[in-house]
Amino acid sequence: MTLVTLKDVLQPALRDGYAVAGLVTLGWEDMRAYVAAAEAEGCPVILQAGPSCREHTPLPVLGAMFRNLAEGASVPVVAHLDHGYTAEDCRIAIDSGFTSVMFDGSRKPLAENIEETTAIAAMAHAAGVSCEGEIGFVGYSGGENSAGTDPEEAARFARETGVDAMAISVGNVHLQQDKQGGLDEARIRAIEAVTEVPLVIHGGSGVPVAQRSALARGSAICKFNIGTELRMAFGQALRKAVDRDPNRFDRVQILKETHDPLVAATRTVLRAFKSV
Ligand SMILES: [Zn+2]
Repeated sequence: MTLVTLKDVLQPALRDGYAVAGLVTLGWEDMRAYVAAAEAEGCPVILQAGPSCREHTPLPVLGAMFRNLAEGASVPVVAHLDHGYTAEDCRIAIDSGFTSVMFDGSRKPLAENIEETTAIAAMAHAAGVSCEGEIGFVGYSGGENSAGTDPEEAARFARETGVDAMAISVGNVHLQQDKQGGLDEARIRAIEAVTEVPLVIHGGSGVPVAQRSALARGSAICKFNIGTELRMAFGQALRKAVDRDPNRFDRVQILKETHDPLVAATRTVLRAFKSV
C-alpha cells in the first residue's frame, strides 16, 4: 500500500530538488502504464482525473482504480482530482478515496477564488487529503487566453488559503502539441521569492524538456502536469495496434499493445524530472 497525499510527495521534492509528474489519465490502460513506468524509474507518481476523464468514468470508479493500482505499487502513488470546479466535485472525490484535490477557482475574482479555495482546503485537510489551488489563469491552446500570475496575489493566495500546492500561470498553456512555448523564469523567481508553497505547472507538455529538468532541479516548481504528450503517445500506439490486423475486434487484445510504448514514453517524461 503506497497510497499517499500530494503533500507527502511534494515536500521532499521541494527539499531535494526534483519534481513529480502529475499524469493525466483517461482510463485503465494509461493509469496502469503510468504506474509501471514510475516503478521502473523508482519515483513517485500522481495519477490525475481531470474533467474529460470524469465525463467518461464516474469519480467513485476512478477512485477505486487509482487505489487498486496504489495498493500494488512499489512507489508512492497520489490519487488526485484535477480541475475540480465546485466544492461538490471535491467532496465526491474525497468520498471516493482520492488523497488530493485541485480546486480551480482561477476564472473567479481573486477574493472569491481565495474564499472558496480556503473552504475546500479546510474540508480536504479535515479528511487527511491535500489541496492544490490555482492563482492567475492558465489558458488553453486554441481557446481561452492566459492571465499571468501576479507574485503579490500568489503570496496572498498561499497565505490565506492554506493550500499544499499552487498552480501558477507563467507562460504555460494547456493542450499544446509542440514544445515551442517556454516558461517565464523571471516571473517564477518573483513568485518563489514570496511563498514557501510548492508550485505547479499545468500544460507541462508544451514546456521544452531542458527547461523542465532545470526548473525541477533548481526552482520551487515541484509538479508538472503532463497530458497531451502522453495522450499523443497512446493514440499513436493504439492506431498502430488497430491497423496491424483489420480482422481483430477484441479490444483487450488491441489495447494490450499500447502498454509497452506508453510505458517507454512515460519513462522518458519521468526521467527529466529527477534530481541530478
Ligand atoms: Zn490544468
